[in-house]
Amino acid sequence: MSLPRTALITGAASGIGAEIAQTLFREGCHVVIADRNEPDYLASLSAEDQRTRFISIDLSQAADCQSLVEQTMKEFGSIDILVNNAGFQHVAPLEDFPESVWENMLQVMLTAPFLLTKYVLPGMKQQGWGRVINMGSIHSQVASLNKAGYIAAKHGLVGLTKSTALEGGPFQITANVICPAYVRTPLVEQQIAAQAESLGISAEQVESQVFLKASATGKMIEPAEVAAMVSYLCSDQAKSITGACWTVDGGWTAQ
Ligand code: NAD
Repeated sequence: MSLPRTALITGAASGIGAEIAQTLFREGCHVVIADRNEPDYLASLSAEDQRTRFISIDLSQAADCQSLVEQTMKEFGSIDILVNNAGFQHVAPLEDFPESVWENMLQVMLTAPFLLTKYVLPGMKQQGWGRVINMGSIHSQVASLNKAGYIAAKHGLVGLTKSTALEGGPFQITANVICPAYVRTPLVEQQIAAQAESLGISAEQVESQVFLKASATGKMIEPAEVAAMVSYLCSDQAKSITGACWTVDGGWTAQ
């Protein structure tokens, strides 16, 4: 990244988002961490200088999305990079899938990215530079059993990204989706623990026999691998890379 940029990252208190925030901070960005929870690494960044802020937000609330963008603009003057990363999982067969969970998933994982993109675009257009990165999943491309809400939201993000790429292109704004397979984060650790209990096998067995069954490399992905992809997509070298899905999946979707 050639200039100091301001990056707004949702769901950055934990897992992949936390790694992205710390990576972009190390690369010189001003970093706004938007999450329901306060990140435990905040002190280590804030101590250095005034380049980081935590803003408490519930992304299911449209008003929170609007005030997040307003607060960030007021404090830092621009939003150059938007990373729509926050998400959560719910596992249930379609006929048992709670309607309230479906609605909440679409609000947090599809409507909030739409609203935040809508609110940051005018500033990006005015400055003639921007990066929008949406955290998809292998479930942006293929389905697995019992994850209808997550899969619908993640597929929807691909359409939102392509629309953003077309409308932002003339203003040098790029938009991309990153599609990881299983990344070692609290979201996945919880799913491994739940399956170990329901299948009556160890967490290690769930990891190798269930979660990595379709992975060519047979390895869990580390958050830093995804953060490195974000960093590249934010760089000036990636200015022509837009409207695309970037798998970080150990070959999962190659078959
Ligand atoms: P995580 O649970 O570690 O972190 C998710 C963060 O989102 C948390 O800090 C949580 O507080 C925040 N969040 C959730 N709902 C929110 C809301 N309503 N308002 C504000 N913040 C909210 O999860 P992770 O594994 O780091 O996942 C991050 C993203 O990566 C998600 O979109 C997820 O779908 C995607 N993803 C994860 C994996 C994986 O294997 N971990 C794979 C593919 C895609």
